[in-house]
Amino acid sequence: MPELPEVEVVRRGLERWVAHRTVADAEVLHQRAVRRHLAGADDFADRLKGHRIGVPSRRGKYLWLPLEDTGQSVLAHLGMSGQLLVQPQSARDEKHLRVRVRFTDALDTELRFVDQRTFGGLSLHDNTPDGLPDVIAHIARDPLDPLFDDEAFHHALRRKRTTIKRALLDQSLISGVGNIYADEALWRARIHYERPTAGFTRPRTLLLLGHVRDVMNAALTAGGTSFDSLYVNVNGESGYFDRSLDAYGREGLPCRRCGTPVRRRAWMNRSSYFCPSCQRAPRVTS
Ligand SMILES: [Zn+2]
Repeated sequence: MPELPEVEVVRRGLERWVAHRTVADAEVLHQRAVRRHLAGADDFADRLKGHRIGVPSRRGKYLWLPLEDTGQSVLAHLGMSGQLLVQPQSARDEKHLRVRVRFTDALDTELRFVDQRTFGGLSLHDNTPDGLPDVIAHIARDPLDPLFDDEAFHHALRRKRTTIKRALLDQSLISGVGNIYADEALWRARIHYERPTAGFTRPRTLLLLGHVRDVMNAALTAGGTSFDSLYVNVNGESGYFDRSLDAYGREGLPCRRCGTPVRRRAWMNRSSYFCPSCQRAPRVTS
């Protein structure tokens, strides 16, 4: 799954190449890509036609294109393999092209939704008064959002009676932190993933939030050139920041801080990577 920085890179690319353009027509090449739009593919295409795209927005890993003067937005579900591409109209269709959006202006580019495994798709939703597609109204703000409330997060964390990595992945507390960035931020903050949140002090919460933001901003910086080209792309591989990871995927390799081999543990159908010296496991109390 793409994580927040990759989705933000795509959002910036769309802002540059698609915002303020008016839809000439939308073509759905595979019904499955708009299956979440219950009124069907023709209705989906009709509702886009003639409307201007506003500034693309994001919350956590959710990305949407506002349709001006409709009170609605197109929400992109990238799933495992979904990509939003801005391509010259003359470019050959991708093998897994699912939706094409053409614009009324003279620019020679169109927006394409390409998805090999068709777990993703596009759907149209009414906006909340905050301008959020209604289906994601329950998603918490992400840590890069200027309106994210550190203090409220700290209190919610303490009330939650859970462990810290579960909390970081809980989209109702904080959005956009996936498995990779959770491991990276916990390593930087020297916190074990199973530490109970009830005992978190304010300085510890703020320290961790600072590291969450740092790893995300570092990934954004590393990916910052990929939206400079015409080709806007996201996929689950997220290759561009791999080499800068300190914990995730480094089982058996020396911790970059203390040299102790990094460990991997099965965790909720995924893996957690951590340094057993820098990130001491909490004592089990009965
Ligand atoms: Zn270490």
